[in-house]
Amino acid sequence: MLDHSKSQADFAHAQTLIPGGVNSPVRAFASVGTNPVFYDHAEGSHIWDVDGNEYVDFVSSWGPMILGHRPAAVEEAVRAQLGRGVSYGAPCEEEIALAEKIIEVVPAAEKVRMVSSGTEAVMSALRLARGFTGRDKIIKFEGCYHGHSDALLVSAGSGVATLGIPGTPGVTAGAAADTVVLPYNDLEAVQQAFEAAPGAFAAVVLEPIAGNMGVVPPAEGYLQGLRDLCTQHDVLLIFDEVITGFRAALGGAQELYGVLPDLCTFGKIIGGGFPVGCFAGRADIMDTLAPVGPVYQAGTLSGNPVAMVAGLAQLTELEKPGTYERLEALGARLEAGLQEAIEAAGIEACVNRAGSVATLFFSAGPIRNWTDAAACDTESFARYFRGMLERGFLIAPSQYEALFVSTAHTEEEIDAFTAAAKEVLANL
Ligand SMILES: *Cc1c(COP(=O)(O)O)cnc(C)c1O
Repeated sequence: MLDHSKSQADFAHAQTLIPGGVNSPVRAFASVGTNPVFYDHAEGSHIWDVDGNEYVDFVSSWGPMILGHRPAAVEEAVRAQLGRGVSYGAPCEEEIALAEKIIEVVPAAEKVRMVSSGTEAVMSALRLARGFTGRDKIIKFEGCYHGHSDALLVSAGSGVATLGIPGTPGVTAGAAADTVVLPYNDLEAVQQAFEAAPGAFAAVVLEPIAGNMGVVPPAEGYLQGLRDLCTQHDVLLIFDEVITGFRAALGGAQELYGVLPDLCTFGKIIGGGFPVGCFAGRADIMDTLAPVGPVYQAGTLSGNPVAMVAGLAQLTELEKPGTYERLEALGARLEAGLQEAIEAAGIEACVNRAGSVATLFFSAGPIRNWTDAAACDTESFARYFRGMLERGFLIAPSQYEALFVSTAHTEEEIDAFTAAAKEVLANL
């Protein structure tokens, strides 16, 4: 057994100071029947805990570290900026450079506003959609996570699903009253909602490839179908690309599927590991924001120069030829290896994958929506998680999350991962 004594001591100490010892609930390992590991440093595809144990990291900070840890280009850009000041609370050229890059690569982005997290990005995009349309109601989908803002924290997947919290105390009935929750991958449900309340909806928001109920790709024609319905009913379509942005393709899922949202939101990868988010979209909608228009949105640290140069360096690296082919090849190799491990073990499990994100679901499948995902055997997932951790492979501590492949992973590491999975699944 790996020695986790320092992590255990840190966890005990942290619990006296921080609720549950963690600053984000999914880090607590609660659903996998063990205690969190505390980390010391990371490099490339590897991460080391405070006890000196080394892991191949498939959490990748939940997506941002798509180039692995400490990519030289990002580190150099950050170091250079540190010598020029870390925050001005005022316009800087670094913001222009990142905005220009985003607008260049993201098909639907005509204008962009920077914020400091994915939560803020989606929350702000929704306010903008409501302000622009003058309507209140929004549609979100069961199992999609859009951050922890009040209106969106209903049937929210991710940590809420992991912890089995049905709703969330602290969110008033009023805050969630205009949020209509429908099943993912079901166009008819959206059509019926539009027809039942004509002129009531400001926006439909979704993860174009769901990642927070585990990975659930859109069914054939689903995204285009939503686009058509929204256009027909004059409702804004918002793609939450906080995971898929700069990952599904450089231009996100909207590029991959060729479907244009009216607004889109980004986070995770966009900051190169620093706290950054943004929302972007049609110029006429974006210009409804203050100071041009009446919809207020602001942030003291928004457009922070250190975060801007980190993000720009990361996107510039991703833009180099072969990046997405490599991520797809590594993802496909991992999927094939996991598939083989499932068959060898003869267990009821299946793999969903979209490029470099994947989830091993403990259910025969197929997993198309939250109802399917919720039927998984989370006890088996917990044993799988602990078995992989013990063998030096770090994955997200929940059935309802993705694993993230980075360009720093090697074929050998993917093969070692699936070989370990084969052993673990055979002995569940
Ligand atoms: C992580 C995530 C968010 C929230 O981003 P934070 O930076 O954690 O606030 C929003 N939407 C999606 C799809 C996410 O995966």
